[in-house]
Amino acid sequence: MHIYVHVPFCVRRCSYCDFSIAVRKRIPAREYVDTVLNELTRVESPAAEPRGSDTIYFGGGTPSLLPPAAITALLEKLLPRTVLEITLEANPEDVTPDNARAWRAAGVNRVSLGAQSFDDSVLKWMHRSHDAARIGAAVHALRGAGIENISLDLIFGLPEELKRNWERDLEMAHALRTTHLSLYGLTVEPRTPLDRWISRGATHAPDDDRYAEEYLFAHRRLVADGFVFYEVSNAARDGFRSQHNSAYWSGKPYVGLGPAAHSFDGTTRRWNLRAWEAYRRAVAEGRSSVESEERLTDAQRELERVYLALRTIEGLPLTVPYRPLPSLTVQGWIEIQDGRLKCTPEGWLRLDSIVNEISHDHATH
Ligand code: SF4
Repeated sequence: MHIYVHVPFCVRRCSYCDFSIAVRKRIPAREYVDTVLNELTRVESPAAEPRGSDTIYFGGGTPSLLPPAAITALLEKLLPRTVLEITLEANPEDVTPDNARAWRAAGVNRVSLGAQSFDDSVLKWMHRSHDAARIGAAVHALRGAGIENISLDLIFGLPEELKRNWERDLEMAHALRTTHLSLYGLTVEPRTPLDRWISRGATHAPDDDRYAEEYLFAHRRLVADGFVFYEVSNAARDGFRSQHNSAYWSGKPYVGLGPAAHSFDGTTRRWNLRAWEAYRRAVAEGRSSVESEERLTDAQRELERVYLALRTIEGLPLTVPYRPLPSLTVQGWIEIQDGRLKCTPEGWLRLDSIVNEISHDHATH
């Protein structure tokens, strides 16, 4: 069992973000904790024995905006079920030595830091509320509190006019000796500030060539530094892969709590109401917080299995009748190793079209 807890609050909206968030100056922590715990009692069948859980992941939004006492209160209810990994997404400005110690005492043993860049002008452009110096201070505070498993999020493929030095950012990240890195290419989502800036010509859309160049550069660089790119966007040092996210990629069931959280039981995916207020009201009035659900057909589950497997370094076992299409192998986008079909870094750049081709070929044979 894997549990995801969505904390929707942010102090402002970053320029590229279209996540389900609630911008708040004051975080309604008590209301949030009560609502999520109320949802939890409904998700659990009263007759069921408490089940073991391997991971808990606080994602957002900005979970680090919750006071540590709120995280403690949530984990007190969830902890008897948990054994392996408890991740908290945090923004660097929230990581004080006191907060870090309180998170550790509550059981958090992994922190994913929204660093994004070490360039102050880029951080400003992104509407982030930290500067570069805060990232290093946050890492030191976490280590001081005994949290060694630290991941940094970085965004690449930014518009050219920002003159972002990607190599320098990777060096700065490397110098902090964190155990994990998640790299995300900038995408332009509808109705974000970035989308509006591009529409009125105030900035350029991210460029595909730059995206590919920076992705491949990061891949070479991190592998040379001893990281394993174990998934299309994630690199880890030995022993530090994200257990929670690995569960998603291997199709395991999970339970999502909080607004917009998704749950999956192996065949049906459900997702909660997106907006915090709508979710809160539904739970308070004793209604279901589920906005909708979809039962996956066999074909959908198979497509998803292929897609998830090819996202990872383990790839797709060739025991199923998928062929290494010559066109893809010749171009160096996929390869066969140990009886498994795997994407190369160049292939990961084209993951969607590779999955389409392979699945289409499978369906027509
Ligand atoms: S902190 Fe994260 S969730 Fe909040 S607005 Fe920024 S990118 Fe979106």
